[in-house]
Amino acid sequence: MNTDTASSRAEIKGGVDQLIMPFLDLRAQFALTRNEIVAAVMEVLESQHFILGSEVDAFEREIRSVTGCEYAIACASGSDSLLLALLALEIGRADEVITTPFTFIASASSIARVGAKPVFADIDPRTFNISAKAIEKAITPRTRAIMPVHLFGLSAEMSKIEEIASAHKVPILEDAAQAIGARYEGRAIGSFGAMGCFSFFPSKNLGGAGDGGMITTNDASIADRLRVLRVHGARKKYEYEQLGINSRLDALQAAILRVKLRHLESWTAARRTNAERYRELFKEFRVEALVQAPEERSRQKHVYNQFTIRVNNRNELREHLKQRRIPTELYYPKPLHLQPAFAYLGHKPGDFPVSETASQEVLSLPIYPELTEGQQRAVVAAIADFDAE
Ligand SMILES: *Cc1c(COP(=O)(O)O)cnc(C)c1O
Repeated sequence: MNTDTASSRAEIKGGVDQLIMPFLDLRAQFALTRNEIVAAVMEVLESQHFILGSEVDAFEREIRSVTGCEYAIACASGSDSLLLALLALEIGRADEVITTPFTFIASASSIARVGAKPVFADIDPRTFNISAKAIEKAITPRTRAIMPVHLFGLSAEMSKIEEIASAHKVPILEDAAQAIGARYEGRAIGSFGAMGCFSFFPSKNLGGAGDGGMITTNDASIADRLRVLRVHGARKKYEYEQLGINSRLDALQAAILRVKLRHLESWTAARRTNAERYRELFKEFRVEALVQAPEERSRQKHVYNQFTIRVNNRNELREHLKQRRIPTELYYPKPLHLQPAFAYLGHKPGDFPVSETASQEVLSLPIYPELTEGQQRAVVAAIADFDAE
């Protein structure tokens, strides 16, 4: 997921110079928020207070109200939010944490970073999210947590996962990096597990001007531990009760994120409208046999951080779209169990076949809020063109 507009532009520059649209248009978003952001940044600069402080406190309060959680603890990135969550549960050597192999590296690398073993469970082919059945099979006496990822902005099957977690008395850690504002049966994601972990990387639905993260929880003692862990384990200055890390949110990021948070609902609504429009256009251009649109189920509110279709001859279609100056991205081209960094786990091709097939068939189309109907028509017309060849 860590691909912003700059790198997509760079990638495509080699082949085709003028794209019909960017993959993600952060400049359009900035044009809309420029005055508010400049004022908020100036205020922080005037204060010369840069680390944590009142802007961060205010942003934490606002995230509490978005998620309905009692506590929110800001940190330096989404990756750190996962690391801090695992540290807060004192998960380490000899422990196992179940997660999906079809996700961004940080979901599983955070588990490995605290010394525990990432245990993968395969995904549901329609939602791309971790399968509850596969979780159940992966549980062992060493399982210390289950980490579902709400991939692309769609919540995982939380009621089934909650059942499994409570039957086996293991906490849930939600990787909600791509899904701020998403809901499952009316409940905000980030409020299901022991902790919800969010990212404010620029390409996320709520993205800062750099890195940022947040952990939500309803547990007072976990919240207390997280506040200590993010400042090197110090409750009082220069008194270290345990080993923590340096992971704080800057006041500048918090100030910018607070401005953007005021727009999040309308941006999410625009992403959802665009998703619906793609579905209609797929019908209109008769490409439904070629491409499969993402699932949207009635009990889930999808926030479309990505609009990811499935297609058999994915690489050919992607090349064809590139020639037509249509940007696309691959999330994710290789599942985590086949990454060299996880070779020590001893997995081989075929271990998680649904994830492996997904990695060969997924293709993400532009879905950002400012995308116009004309641009979407251009995308789908180009797909239809491929079908006709
Ligand atoms: C972006 C992302 C992260 C990591 O967030 P950063 O802020 O980039 O560190 C973790 N998990 C998933 C699923 C993500 O998409």
